[in-house]
Amino acid sequence: MLSFKPDKEKVEKIIKELERLYPDAKTALEFSNPFELLIAAILSAQTTDKQVNKITKHLFKKYSTPEDFAALKPEELEKEIKGCGLYRNKSKNIIETSRILVEKYGGKVPQDFESLVELPGVGRKTANVVLSSGFGKDAIAVDTHVFRVANRLGLAKSSTPLGTERDLQKAVDKKLWSRLHHWLIHHGRKVCTARNPKCSSCTLGKWCSHYQKK
Ligand code: SF4
Repeated sequence: MLSFKPDKEKVEKIIKELERLYPDAKTALEFSNPFELLIAAILSAQTTDKQVNKITKHLFKKYSTPEDFAALKPEELEKEIKGCGLYRNKSKNIIETSRILVEKYGGKVPQDFESLVELPGVGRKTANVVLSSGFGKDAIAVDTHVFRVANRLGLAKSSTPLGTERDLQKAVDKKLWSRLHHWLIHHGRKVCTARNPKCSSCTLGKWCSHYQKK
């Protein structure tokens, strides 16, 4: 397979425009520390950030530490998070993850990718969200928006989230990785939607591979 070769000049123009469009882009999940972000990110699988915020607003008032969550029974937590999809699995995963944090990490969220992805309910995307938004590290979490928009724009050329992450890492300066992730999510929600992207009013059209091919 041919390896992806980003067009540096085009990438630079896209980045500049994304920065202009979304100067304050950040995660929509509400949290006040890395542990809360980890729980919110686990809850966000197949659920909107808005719905997660609605749940965590009450949840974090009742339970806020790994010790609190580790002491819960799955049925107790299920009741609290019932408003989001896959709540039975998420309940089990959150309790087990909290127990591991207490027993193995002194109640703290680990700050390295390998340890994070070993936690139940934490995949590559969730680990990267925690690293970038929770700890300010350079990481790109590839969700459905990032995957779609990056490949349409030509910032990546891959059929998988992992390949897209690698292509983006190659195309864009490391110090921009976290912000890029938020820019692409915002653009995917507002303009480059899955169905009927608003190409005619999109200011990235002149550099967009998908639009230029039309
Ligand atoms: S031109 Fe169309 S496909 Fe390209 S980024 Fe804009 S909305 Fe998406």
